[in-house]
Amino acid sequence: MAAPTSQSKVQTGHLIAGTFVDSGTDRIDVVNPATEEVIASVPAGTAADADAAVRAAATAFTDWSALPLADRVAAVGRINDGLRARADELAATITAEVGTPIMFASKVQVPNPIGITDGVLAEIEAGALDPVEFGNSVVVREPVGVVGAITPWNFPLQQMVAKVTPALVAGNTVVLKPSELAPLTAGLLAEIIAAADLPAGVFNLVHGTGPVVGEAIAAHPLVDMVSFTGSTRAGRRVSVVGAETVKKIALELGGKSPSVVLDDADLVRAVKITVANCFMNNGQACSSLTRLLVPAAKHDEALAAAAAAAGKYQPADPTLESTRIGPAVSAAQRDRVVGFIRTGVEEGATLAAGGPDPVAGPGFYVRPTVFGNVREDMTIAKEEIFGPVLSVLPYADEADAVRIANSTQYGLAAGVFSSDPDHAAAVAGKLRAGQVDINGAAFNTRAPFGGFKQSGNGREFGRYGLEEFTELKSIQR
Ligand code: NAD
Repeated sequence: MAAPTSQSKVQTGHLIAGTFVDSGTDRIDVVNPATEEVIASVPAGTAADADAAVRAAATAFTDWSALPLADRVAAVGRINDGLRARADELAATITAEVGTPIMFASKVQVPNPIGITDGVLAEIEAGALDPVEFGNSVVVREPVGVVGAITPWNFPLQQMVAKVTPALVAGNTVVLKPSELAPLTAGLLAEIIAAADLPAGVFNLVHGTGPVVGEAIAAHPLVDMVSFTGSTRAGRRVSVVGAETVKKIALELGGKSPSVVLDDADLVRAVKITVANCFMNNGQACSSLTRLLVPAAKHDEALAAAAAAAGKYQPADPTLESTRIGPAVSAAQRDRVVGFIRTGVEEGATLAAGGPDPVAGPGFYVRPTVFGNVREDMTIAKEEIFGPVLSVLPYADEADAVRIANSTQYGLAAGVFSSDPDHAAAVAGKLRAGQVDINGAAFNTRAPFGGFKQSGNGREFGRYGLEEFTELKSIQR
């Protein structure tokens, strides 16, 4: 479906102790999901590579953590300048390796992490890391130490930067293991950080798979903290592996977020916003509103509106500015999503748009799909699908809506729609989720982002995200 995307030359090696190294013989191919072409490859890192990177970070920690805060603020400011200067290249790279529509990559996926870093620097300016005195104590925030950052592919730059810049500015050193599906964006970030003149070993990058490099980082005794974003399944494993050395573990995991449309809401507007949110980034966002909860009497109207809205999302070449939805990231992800769509049909949900039929290739495309009459016990209402699949669930009354909204193992995000702000706020207060958007309110890169329940246990962005990368020390006088 898509024309081949040209890929600019990016560093593909690991960055260890200040040097790009292309060690080893095994390689991981990087596949453009719109063309199915191999566009690059990176080394498949080993436990020895992870160990070398961790040791470099541990060595660099003493001097980096002792630098005046203003020097680290300046260094992170230079990284953010580098992100700004290479924004177009970053967006094109995300589109090439993830399949994100170029408009979304350049308007959201690249600006967000720049905004996140600006927000962290503004919080420091406002005193977020200043000592606090009370009684005979002074409480100071100190860096945790060596931070292992493990990130997914779906918002690759945002997820890396949301860990790396706050960790560095707080005085930690970092070993980053990016997703093996989006390593070129990581290579660009490593180039930008290398050009920002940080001392060798302060930031290190090791490519590779989760079970090999990710687990080596999580298990390493010299790693003081792991900040992990990814699936609940892998997050559980990182917790188990990291527990042996009692390291700090922050987890940003999956979601199955509800959009609760109250009886007094503008139904069609609420449905359109929910569909756009659900199909964002080709349906591959952790906080996507994938369950649309509507009053039972309005179910059929809502389903028709959702199907009509879905019809405006025609899978297309993500390099075109007009494209609203591109392919799934990989063949495996496409097959997984199509499997869930089949299960939805088998379990008796009403297929109102899309479906499991293949889309003519090349490219790992999925038909944007809407199901109606979904019950909370159906697989598609419980499992994170991570594709463009919306489930519409009828509810009996408001208490029933809240109960259904809170009925999954996840608690990452939620939406509430109502024409009455107080009504919306009251329902928002009952939802067990880390962030609740009322009437499609805008994303705030300084508000804490993270999950309740099995969506995780940490927070990212702004002051609260920065605090995750610190230890508290009380000094009594
Ligand atoms: P994934 O869990 O497969 O991989 C994420 C990262 O973990 C990758 O770098 C991977 O190599 C690594 N990994 C995998 N197994 C590991 C192991 N045993 N030990 C250590 N590391 C391991 O997830 P994905 O497919 O890359 O991303 C999609 C998932 O990420 C979805 O579940 C999505 O909801 C979640 N996500 C969450 C957030 C959030 O902020 N809460 C943001 C984006 C994505």
